[in-house]
Order: sequence, then structure tokens, then C-alpha cells
Amino acid sequence: MAYGAMGKILWVDLSTREMKEEPFDEQTARKYLGGYGLGARVLWDRQTPGVDPLGPEAILGFVTGITTGTDAVGGSRYAVVGKSPLTGGWGDANSGGSFGPQLKMAGYDAVFFTGASDKPVYLYLNNGTAELRDASHLWGKDTVETENLLQQEHGKDLEVACIGPAGEKLALIAGVINNKGRAAARSGLGAVMGAKKLKAIAAQGNLTVPVANPELMRELRKKHVASLTGHAEQLHATGTPGIYEMCCVIDDAPAKNWVGVATIDLPTYANCGGEAVLEKQKRRFACWRCPIACGGHMKSGTGEYKYPEGVHKPEYETLAMFGSNCLNDNLGSIITANDLCNRYGLDTISTGACIAFTMECYEKGILTKEDTDGLEMTWGNHRALVAMTEKIGKREGFGDILADGLKRAAERIGRGSEQYAMHIGGQEIAGHDPRGGWGFAIGYGCDPTPGRHNQGGGQHPPGLDIPDVPREQMTGRGVYHKLSTNFMHSVSALGMCHFVAGAYPSADQLVEALHAITGWSDLTKEELLLTGERITNVRQAFNIREGVKTPFLYPDRMRGVPPKTVGPRAGITFTHEEVYNQYLVEMDWDTKTGKPSKAKLVELGLEDIAQVLWP
Ligand code: SF4
Repeated sequence: MAYGAMGKILWVDLSTREMKEEPFDEQTARKYLGGYGLGARVLWDRQTPGVDPLGPEAILGFVTGITTGTDAVGGSRYAVVGKSPLTGGWGDANSGGSFGPQLKMAGYDAVFFTGASDKPVYLYLNNGTAELRDASHLWGKDTVETENLLQQEHGKDLEVACIGPAGEKLALIAGVINNKGRAAARSGLGAVMGAKKLKAIAAQGNLTVPVANPELMRELRKKHVASLTGHAEQLHATGTPGIYEMCCVIDDAPAKNWVGVATIDLPTYANCGGEAVLEKQKRRFACWRCPIACGGHMKSGTGEYKYPEGVHKPEYETLAMFGSNCLNDNLGSIITANDLCNRYGLDTISTGACIAFTMECYEKGILTKEDTDGLEMTWGNHRALVAMTEKIGKREGFGDILADGLKRAAERIGRGSEQYAMHIGGQEIAGHDPRGGWGFAIGYGCDPTPGRHNQGGGQHPPGLDIPDVPREQMTGRGVYHKLSTNFMHSVSALGMCHFVAGAYPSADQLVEALHAITGWSDLTKEELLLTGERITNVRQAFNIREGVKTPFLYPDRMRGVPPKTVGPRAGITFTHEEVYNQYLVEMDWDTKTGKPSKAKLVELGLEDIAQVLWP
């Protein structure tokens, strides 16, 4: 067993209710680290290719990393992994809060579910024991009610990851929620949980994560907390809403379903900026033992939107998707929509994207009031935005069409609506513009999970041998993106927050923490780069084996066809090849199909995968 791990993986067959434990051995831990690294390897090995992601054969995993629940600063995260019902390929999502650490303190590094229950259940974990319990009383409850009810039953120290009504109703844009508003939102994995009739995982325990040198790690923690730099201060002050205004000014934030410019089409965008959000914040929210504490709980809403005190602060992505992208400057409505998404268990990026799409279809006459249940889906109509968010959560009326995401909504609506559906590979595009944001442009299309803002590169800490490339520069972008994202794949798999890892003054600090945690004194930054590359090759191999067409292709608008005529990004247009090929060549992935070369797979120690992809 590796230090940093509890050494146990739990397998739960929801059809037979059988459970078994397997060891999380040191060799696997070092090769895949945990999180979506371990998750991808397990699903490659154990899941039959071509399964229905919502069928009983699909595997759904909740996986921590080897820094999760340790003294490593930022070691708070867990990943949810499975086949994405949105893309048909590899799916992962991750979340902070305190569920991940508690899962380990309850005795497990990971839980994988197979089968499907015939009635609602939840998994109760406590100090190394596991029990499937009836969840009939929780089915239909929102995520806040679910967590409250489970804590009433088991105690306040219980941590819960659960789905809301959206996941129960198999909305493909449903996510998994913990801490009543921290979300593993992307890839549609809440629907996979719902299909298994698994309402929640409830974890409780006080086991200690074994660490090779706990005394040294305690000292390092003090040193690392004191030395956090870069964006840590700004994140502490305002959280991610602090970048909203800047993103509007540089035309990075989406406006008017990605066809507009926030500063021109929504001159009042600052109504939802960092300072405005801060005024409505009651107190900070921190993931488990995080000194940055970039989250927040809000004061109770006043005026038209009377949300209760304590609801979570909307993050930048939520502000962008429900704000500028819908030409909405009403902050109360965004806080309300955010809270509705948290309660129903919806991805705020996807939900906001669906509403902006609906507004554009309404403007173009493709949709009318008759289609949208009487709601006037005009730009900036914040009341309609909130009402439609609730309909999506309930799968009610037109919300039922949007609940499965843009790709399927446009297919059902037809009438030319497809051109306004801003998804890539079935996943709604996150709130940073790829037109001129070259890291996002590559990441959205080339990462095995498309449309993801946290796969855009550039978040790595200093101290790595990565040649710097200015934001606006394409030359040299391929190697930069490869190295930056490879390092951050390791960070993700370790269960560490990207914001914290990026705030370390040097990657050396992360390495010294890993030495103290794992005892792997020969581990280097170079090994982390290689491990990240291995991990993402397994994710990509999963897509190739599933027959998913990669790299993913943008809708014309998202690559500037036609280009914008006004604003900071006027005139920018790109082809898939000029943005993707540098990176794909560096990765040794085929530029047409995204398939990793045999030599690359062998070099990464993935001979068995090479044999399958290159028989
Ligand atoms: S920086 Fe923010 S998201 Fe990251 S661990 Fe800290 S509180 Fe959580």
C-alpha cells in the first residue's frame, strides 16, 4: 500500500448488492496517482467497450487522489468518472469541498459502482464499513434537503455527494453535488448516478490518511501556506467572480450566445462583477483546510430574488453563462439560478448555455412563446431565465428538451437551430472564448473531455521546464500546451486543486510535499509530467476504443466563421488544423483521428493498451 492512500478500493454491484474490497497497491498509485488517472485505468480495464452509459454495465467511480485528505495544501478534491452520456466517450468531473477527504477518512480511496438498483439507495461508509441503505425517503429531494436529512440521521460530521431531481430524471446535464453547492458538474455523470438509482454516497469517519513523514509534512504545510503566491491573494479576496469584469473587457467572456461583445451588448456587465458579488457575500467558503477560501456563502436575497442566506456564491463560469452570455445584468437572478442548479443538481455552464441558445432561437423566431411554456425568452429576461432553469431541473415543459443538453435539444427542435447550439462533441462550451484564447481553443477540442475550461493549459506553477508562450501567440503553443496540461493532469489525479497548485511559488514545493506524503524520495517533476501524459493517453485511448470521433469539432461561430466585426477579438478566425495540429503532433496523436501512436503508448508503459489500439 502506498502512503497517502488508505489502500482500499470498494466495488459495489448495485444489481446484486454485493460489495468487495480490492487493494489500491503502491505500483498502481505511483503510475496513476488516483482521481481520473486511476479512474481511467480502471474503466479501461473493467468496462466493456460500447456499453450504454446509462445502462447497468456502465461503471461509475468516485476517486480521491493521494494528496486528498493529507496536509498537502489544496489536497481536497475527488473525481467522478464514467462514460459520458453527453459525449459517448470518456467522462470525468471533479469537486472540492470536504467530501473527498471524508471519503478517505471513512476508509476508502475510491468506490466503483456497477449494475443498477431497482429502488433508490445510498451508500453509507463509516470507518472502513460499507452498507447500501434504502433511499426512498430521499428520492425527489433536492441536494440541500438530501444532505440535511442524511446529516440528521447520521450526524453533522457526515459528508455527502448526491444527485438532485435532475440526475434522478436522467437529465444529461446533471452533475453530482457535495457541500450543498460544490459540483462535479461536467460530463453528465449525475445522469449515470440517477440511472443506477444511486441517490448519494454518505461518508463518515475519523481514520487518518497514512503519510510517510507526517512531522515533515506538517512543517511543509506551514511553509507552503505562508508562501502561496500568484493569484492566491486575488482568489482569497473575491474568488473567481473577481475575473468577470476583466473577462468581459478582453472579450473572453461569452456574450449573447457567443456572437456578441459584453462591453458593447451589455454595458452594465459590472453589475455582476467581483465587487458587486462581494457586497452580497456573507462569509467565505473554503474547501477542506484551504487557506485561499475562494468560495462564498451569500447574505439572504433582497428585492425580487429572496434566496435564503447561506446559498453558495456563483463562480465566474456561472456569472458568464447566466450573465453576459444571456445579456443579463441582474445579479440576484444569477445567484438564484446558481442555487437552483445546485439544488436540482445541474451543471451551471451547460444550463446557462442552454438558456442562451433558447434566447437566440427565440430572437430568430425558431422558438415562440408557445414552445417555451409561455415564457418570453428575450435577451436579458432574468425572470424567464430563472423560470427556465427551474423547468430544466424538473424536466418540465420546454425544460425537458433542454435537460439533455444543447446537442440533443437542437436535434429535437430542428428548424436550423443546430447552428446556435454552442457545444463541442456534445458538451456545452465553458465560459472562455477560444477565438484568440489559444489554450482554450486546443483544450476544448483536443482533451478527451471536450469543452472544459480547466484543460486549457497555463495553470501550472513556475519551476517547470516549460517554455513561456504569450497568450496571444500560436507559435510554440503545441509543446507549451502539452507540458502544461500534462503536469496538471497529475495535479488533478493527485486530488489537488488547480488554483492552489498554480499558486505554489514553484513545482518543487509540490514535489517536496509528495516526498513527505508518499516516501517516494526519487519522484521528480519530470516524472509528474510523464505520469500526466500517461493518464491522458489512457483517457484518450478510452475515446478511441469507444469509436468517438476526435479531435472534437467546433460549431462555425466558435472558430470565428464568420469572424466578429467589433470588439477586441474582431477579425479572429481559425481552422481546426492550425489550432489542433501543433499539440497533436507533440502528443504523437494522429492529427486526423486523435489516436495515440503505438510508440507513444509503449513509451508510457501502456503496452497492453497499444495492443488493443494497434492489433
Ligand atoms: S482555492 Fe478555492 S477551489 Fe481551490 S481548494 Fe481552495 S477554496 Fe477550494
